[in-house]
This record gives sequence, C-alpha cells and structure tokens, in this order.
Amino acid sequence: MYYRLLNGAYVVRNDDKYVIHHVSYGDLCRIDEKAKEVVFRLAQEEGVLEKLSQEDKLMAQVLIEQNFLVSCRRPLSYKILDNPDELRKEYIVWFKDVTYLIVKVTNRCNLGCKYCHENANMDREDMTLDLFCNLVNKVLKSTKHNKISILLFGGEPTLMPLEWYMEALKHVREAEELFEKKVTILLQSNFIKVSAEKLRLFRDAGIKLSTSIDNPINPLSSYRPLANEVIKTCIAAQNMGFEVGVILTINKTNINDISSICHWMADNLGKIRFKANVMHPVGSGETTVALSSKEIFEAQKNILTYMIKTEGRELVERNLAEEIVRFFENHLQDKEPKKPAMGCCAKNCGAGKTLLSVEPNGDIYPCARLSDDIEYLLGNVNNYGLDSSNVNNFFNRANQFHNVNQEIWQKCQSCSAKTICSYGCKAFIIRSKTKENIECKPTLLRFAFYQENKDALRKVYETYVSQNRNKREGSF
Ligand code: SF4
Ligand code: SF4
Repeated sequence: MYYRLLNGAYVVRNDDKYVIHHVSYGDLCRIDEKAKEVVFRLAQEEGVLEKLSQEDKLMAQVLIEQNFLVSCRRPLSYKILDNPDELRKEYIVWFKDVTYLIVKVTNRCNLGCKYCHENANMDREDMTLDLFCNLVNKVLKSTKHNKISILLFGGEPTLMPLEWYMEALKHVREAEELFEKKVTILLQSNFIKVSAEKLRLFRDAGIKLSTSIDNPINPLSSYRPLANEVIKTCIAAQNMGFEVGVILTINKTNINDISSICHWMADNLGKIRFKANVMHPVGSGETTVALSSKEIFEAQKNILTYMIKTEGRELVERNLAEEIVRFFENHLQDKEPKKPAMGCCAKNCGAGKTLLSVEPNGDIYPCARLSDDIEYLLGNVNNYGLDSSNVNNFFNRANQFHNVNQEIWQKCQSCSAKTICSYGCKAFIIRSKTKENIECKPTLLRFAFYQENKDALRKVYETYVSQNRNKREGSF
C-alpha cells in the first residue's frame, strides 16, 4: 500500500519550509524538509509506513488521521511547486464539479440524418488518443466526485478504429484505478456498419450502448435512413448480452405511428431502455418543420396510454416515467423537485458545471448540443496553463449560457406544473430561430392529463420505481 496526498493537494515551497496546499481550501499545514521527504517516500515506496522511525511514523499517522494523506494502490511521484500559480496549472479547476462528460471522439458521421442537431459529415476530424487520455486524466484527477459517466459521442463514435478503442478503454480503467474513481462508460451509436469485433470489445469493457430508431413501422418515410440495418445491429448486440438503449425522436415523420411503434419496440426488442425526445429544428435540421404543442402532446399521450395499458410492465419511456415519478413524489406530496443526477430537467441545467462536452480538437463547451457555437466556447483541454483571466472566462461563459433568454422562465414560479417540469433543453432554445421553449405547453397539457388519470397512472409509477430503484441515473 502507498499513501498519496488528497486530491487537489500539493507540496508548495515556502522559503526553507513547505506547505501542503489545496487548490480549493488553501494551505492545509506547514511541514519541514524531513516531513516532506516522508510524504514523498510514502507515495513512492510500497509499505514504507511500517519501516519509518518512531518519530516519522507518528508524524505520518497525524497526516493520515487528518485525511491529508490517503491510501492508494499505486505509486505516485510528486514535484515541489514554487507558488500557487504553478499549482493552478496542475489542478484543472474547470473539471472540479464534473459528473457527466461528453466526449465527441469524432465529428465524422456515416449516416447524415435530415434533422441532426450536429453539423457532422465525413470530412471532419477525430480525437487523438493522446488528447483522449490526457482529458480522462485531467477530469478524473480534478473532479471532486467519486463516480462519473463518460459518454462517447460524435459524429458517429464507432468510426474510430478498433485499436484506438483498445487503448482508450484500457486507459480509462487504469485512470479509474489510479485516481480511485468509478467511471461508467456510455456510447451513443447510429449502429451502421459496427463490426462484431468492436461490439465484443465494448461488451467486455462494460460499455452501455444506445442507438436511435425513429420509425421501424415506416422506415422509408423516416428522417433517419437505413432503419433496417440499425435494427439488425440492435438485435445482434442484444444477442451478445447488451442491454441496448433506444432513443426515438418524435418528429413529423412518426407522430401518427407512435402507438404502433411502442408495440413494435416491445414485441421486437423487449424491455429496452427507451427515450422519446422531441425534435428541435436546429443544426442540420434547421429547415425541418417544428411540431406544434398539440402534436407533441398527442404523441406523448399515445406513449402514456400504452404505458397505462401495460401497467408499466412492458416498454417504458424514461422521460415520461421520470415525470410521473415527479408527479407522485413532488406534486402530490407537495415537495420541491430533487436535482437530477446528470443535470438536465432543471431550469439551470448542469451544462458548464456538472456536465461538459469536449470536441475532437479538445474545445470544451457547456453541452454537446451547443457544438461549434463559438460564443459558448469555454476553453481547450490543451490550454490549461490557467491564469486568472482564463479561469474567469471559462466560468463567465458558462454563466452567460444560463443567463440568456431569462424571459422564457418568467411564468415558471407561479406555474402549477413546476413540480413536474423538465424545462426543455437550454441549448436547443438558444440555437432555435424562435428562441421558444417548445416543451412548455405540452408540459402543461401532460400535467392536466396526469391529474385526470391519476388512478390509472399509479400502477405505472409503482412498477417503474420498483424496477428501476437503482438505475435512475441520467443518460443523454
Ligand atoms: S410548464 Fe412552462 S411555465 Fe410551467 S414551469 Fe414548465 S417551462 Fe415554466
Ligand atoms: S438541458 Fe440541454 S443544454 Fe442543458 S444539459 Fe441537458 S441537453 Fe445540455
């Protein structure tokens, strides 16, 4: 066993003495030359505590009891820093609150859906392995949270070579052990031409896979091409042991088929993790037609009706199920909504704080849904030689993202649906032409539906909570 300084703490020189200094808490304690040597030996030599002289051992035990030193399974080497400015370079304050990191490993995509909120195409760039490993180290070293989720995203992330993934995934597991953090790896793929070899690698690395299927009933009318190939890969992945997640985007091409699609999904894919997000006309999909509030509500009502009929035992749509939980646990019990783990579903969502998104070139944005919007570019992974203006810039821009279009939320405080509301997606509102929250009115309509159908929904609520008690962490 080794002992390392607690995360964020370093030895800083102060004349002929030293200080154990923490990036958030400042100076923790002064130590002399001898104590500094003991701290360094404990981090580098296995089992050295038992070999120390009585006096040195006593001093080490005081540091351990005060949690300045914590046990670890691997050796670490420290360098002495001369001043706290140097310390800032070592410790990446940008990542200190992160629980959910979206990594766009490539901007390339081999599908080109008409409504894509990205601007992906085959000419764009990939993330180097070095940058990926560097990013993972910085985030795991810096975040104060013990558990984080990393979503591998794109473009189409499976376009990256098998060898890239072998190294990248090995690195995540090593970093997890080194920094004593638990990492859940998720990957969102379009499931086009994903080799069995790659799927096996993902399975063995414990990756949670999700894909998108919009209309398996009328695939030719869908904004997403090649639905049959996606379904084939989805079933192949399930046969390999994956619990595949499916995201459906409610849009003009499938609103009339929603009930049949629910039955199709349950009959053909079983009890999948399922989300039905509303399409927003942004990015490549800017010219597509937005749904009216009534159309959005009708599609969601059809899903709710399906869930009521099957008492939540078959296909369950996660956004609506979580909303039903809020209806029973917040609204009916008159409680304030809890902050969701990932950071969506709140007026001030986690974008720019608990959630960050990184482009293939290392550019950092508050959320993946703000891609390429230079106004909200927070910084770059490679440019972490932080001076104070850099730090301020990062956090000011993140705040600026949350402060625009505040007028949209004016009615929220007095709104009866606020106990269930997820407030739409801030990035999509900012990027849309109308700057409207197109999910507001459908929320009010669903709220009325929940009140009218309270008794029928209770069974859905009870089944969902009992089956998903430990699985309700956020996913993108
Ligand atoms: S339904 Fe609309 S007005 Fe009501 S809390 Fe949600 S966003 Fe605000
Ligand atoms: S609400 Fe939108 S911008 Fe905020 S974290 Fe969720 S996806 Fe990102």
